[in-house]
Amino acid sequence: MRFRIAMSFLLALCAASCASADVIVLKNGNRIIGTNVTSENGRVTYLTSAGQLSIPQAIVARIEHDDSGERSGADVAPPVSTPQIEPAAGYEEIAHQTIHDGGVDYAYIARLESDARSGSAAATVKVAAAHYAAAQFFLSKAKTDTAIEQYREGLSFSPDNFGLLMNLSVLYLRQSQFTQALDPLQHAREVAPDSADVYKLMGWAYYGANKTGQAIDAWKQAAKLRPDPDVIEALRKAERDQALESSYREGETAHFDLKYSGSAAPELARGILNALESDYQDLESQLDYTPPEPIGVVLYTGQAFQDITRAPAWVGALNDGRIRIPVQGLTSVTPELARELKHELTHSFVGQKSHYRAPTWLQEGIAQWMEGSRSTSNAAYLIDAAQKGLVPQLGSLEGSWIGYSGDSAWVAYAWSLAVVESIIDRGGVSDIGRLIGAMAGAPSAQDAVQQTLNSDYDQLQQQTLAYLRRSYVSD
Ligand SMILES: [Zn+2]
Repeated sequence: MRFRIAMSFLLALCAASCASADVIVLKNGNRIIGTNVTSENGRVTYLTSAGQLSIPQAIVARIEHDDSGERSGADVAPPVSTPQIEPAAGYEEIAHQTIHDGGVDYAYIARLESDARSGSAAATVKVAAAHYAAAQFFLSKAKTDTAIEQYREGLSFSPDNFGLLMNLSVLYLRQSQFTQALDPLQHAREVAPDSADVYKLMGWAYYGANKTGQAIDAWKQAAKLRPDPDVIEALRKAERDQALESSYREGETAHFDLKYSGSAAPELARGILNALESDYQDLESQLDYTPPEPIGVVLYTGQAFQDITRAPAWVGALNDGRIRIPVQGLTSVTPELARELKHELTHSFVGQKSHYRAPTWLQEGIAQWMEGSRSTSNAAYLIDAAQKGLVPQLGSLEGSWIGYSGDSAWVAYAWSLAVVESIIDRGGVSDIGRLIGAMAGAPSAQDAVQQTLNSDYDQLQQQTLAYLRRSYVSD
């Protein structure tokens, strides 16, 4: 599906602003969102922010009013910030000795390690601090894996170092390695049994690993130790999940952990898993990424979907870390559902590979491209709008689109797809994989674009316009 209203937990915001829009479904499966849709004299006319537009009735399959619009959530990263922990007294001095002249002084670390091996307790503390400093250095260079090695190295000398344990677990969580994150967290709990931070992060690790019951236990403990609005919010959501999941059946494949309500047909669940598995393999090779953990998928009958997600009635599937799909009335995987599955699964891949740092334009552009959408029916409009200065700047499309009206959302989705198409046209889909990877560590999305594509946002806009003209306009 093509025009989705990005949303996370704040779905209700969009209900107000998008409810008035109608959806024109084209015969090629594309959708146009507009207001005041009328059809007359063989043309369908509708209103957008760019004014009144019309298309031939012959290419329109149907017009859906209001509640049939559709939407998805972009990625929602677990709110895991590193608790501020002072690694050691005199840390500044050790950091200074460890990092200088733009690099890590491995000889200095080796001397500290050798002192520590000969039994000096003071040196052991310094080794931990030095590896902590080295890890911070690598993080600033976007080298997460190397930073993880530094934390682990430090822990091999100082296994009870709370700061190292917590920082290591946060990096695992950011990489969606939830089961891995549990190891240092369990150790941290032994070291500091009364730390609310430990239980908070444990909750995210269990939740990410689809262990809802254990996540609830951990967050309850965290809330008992220290009031925290993030934890309360997460706990409420997990409890809503659990209330219905207890009556759910489960299906599992190598890459998915599926839950579905008893009233959904088992054949449908099997069909969905089959479709997702083949999408998974396709995305794995196209985006050059393998998610470290099985991806949670929940199928809902219509009402249960509203109950759990608190989504307004018009909301379709969404992805808030788990893929949530209403399947009321379906008995098999329709082409529409297949596109939706691919779209939502793409969000999981892009979210995880980018450490949830891909801007919304990139997320939605790739998800639409992967589900099979192309700019064919949008190109003429976008070219015209670009000439009038009416296409949005990419910088303004980085954050949430929740507050957008239906027509602004339509342009945002259409332009994002066109930008992604032009990137793939120029450098192949491998450029997309590299771009997402760079997002994980670059200081900003535009920096990642610069590093990967040697373009800034303005150049990307121009490239997109030129691509649309070249590919879709025949003269
Ligand atoms: Zn989407």
